[in-house]
Amino acid sequence: SKEEVYALRKQYLSPALFHHFKDPIMITEGKMQYLYDDKGRRYLDAFAGIVTVSVGHCHPGVVDAVKRQSELLQHTTTIYLNPQIALYAKELTDRLPGNLKVAYFVNSGSEANDMAMMMARLYSGNYDILALRNCYHGMSEGTMGVTAHSTWKFNVPQGFGIRHTLNPNPYTGAFGNDGKRYAEDVKDVISTSTPGGVAGFIAETIQGVGGSVPLADGYLPAVYDMVREAGGVCIADEVQTGFGRTGTNYWGFQNQGVVPDIVTMAKGIGNGLPLAAVVTTPEIAQTLAQRLHFNTYGGNPVCCAGGRAVLQAVDEDGIQANAAKVGDLLLERMRGLQEKHSIIGDVRGQGLMLGVEMVKDRASKEPAAAETGQVMQRLRELGVLIGKGGLHGNVFRIKPPMCITTDDAEFLTEAFDLALS
Ligand code: PMP
Repeated sequence: SKEEVYALRKQYLSPALFHHFKDPIMITEGKMQYLYDDKGRRYLDAFAGIVTVSVGHCHPGVVDAVKRQSELLQHTTTIYLNPQIALYAKELTDRLPGNLKVAYFVNSGSEANDMAMMMARLYSGNYDILALRNCYHGMSEGTMGVTAHSTWKFNVPQGFGIRHTLNPNPYTGAFGNDGKRYAEDVKDVISTSTPGGVAGFIAETIQGVGGSVPLADGYLPAVYDMVREAGGVCIADEVQTGFGRTGTNYWGFQNQGVVPDIVTMAKGIGNGLPLAAVVTTPEIAQTLAQRLHFNTYGGNPVCCAGGRAVLQAVDEDGIQANAAKVGDLLLERMRGLQEKHSIIGDVRGQGLMLGVEMVKDRASKEPAAAETGQVMQRLRELGVLIGKGGLHGNVFRIKPPMCITTDDAEFLTEAFDLALS
């Protein structure tokens, strides 16, 4: 029973783990955009297991691929040839622009970002990495130091040589949507806090955990120029924004018209399978050729087979176009709710990477965190599981599996309206 599972979890799992709701929900099945609890009750999944289920829970194509590969060969490392990893590397990098043609597979977003920062340091010969305040890049020792979000900080040594710059947040930032003005701070950080040269710059192309925060217009082009001038490489963390989630483009960085030197990906890449990747140029990849480097599970045949099926599903199911269509509808509906409910301070995002920021007062933008929790609870009762985030926990994050329909979007809107009322 749920009670037994809860008791086991409390006794045997780390207290660091959190779950939503005082009366935790127990999910036992998933089918595309829906989740089912232990009583068989259906929920619309508006958060996709923290933005991870991209093409749908237990997508038949992914299930088939994993099943077939599991029966054939579950594991060898990269010390032997296996077709899955080689074919997958080609198929994945085919979907990236420019010279981003070499992949390195790992198991999580944190590992991918650690790896990207190591490559940036080796390639540039510099040490300092620039990152944004309010960012989330992982929980390994290295990436925890980059993550600039107090909720996730422990009082332990973490990530050295990290320099944080202004978060170009169009809603709460000092310069509105003027990306170039925020970028000036990068110049300042380089000149005051580094020896002059930097190893790289890492940023999510829309901040995820930080509350679905898009970067102000023109921010990345300006910063990429400054970073490259200072000898560094530009890393795009596409862990949440990749694979068509932002609708208009396959990758989030394309929305700002830039091409990074290193792209990290996880979450949606495997639709829930433990799969992550660092993709870079042959020149940057070459810096690792000087030593051996190894990842036991990275690129294992089962996850690569699943990853290939995800790529296929994104193409064949028209995921990106659907994210754009349903995302636009949701954005419009949420803006409608904003007109009706003064507690909604901001509605933002792109495709199926949306944020709804809850405030006590629209002028002061004081976070309405407790109310966000109450609405979330009410939404659960109404059959919708939604995400939340932001430094103060006052931003709803709408990031469903990308197979969500317009009917689902209308259902979500009605439930949200009711919950807010
Ligand atoms: N980058 C981003 C943008 C993320 O959202 C996350 C996870 N929330 C990570 C990196 C870390 O990924 P993982 O939990 O797989 O290590």
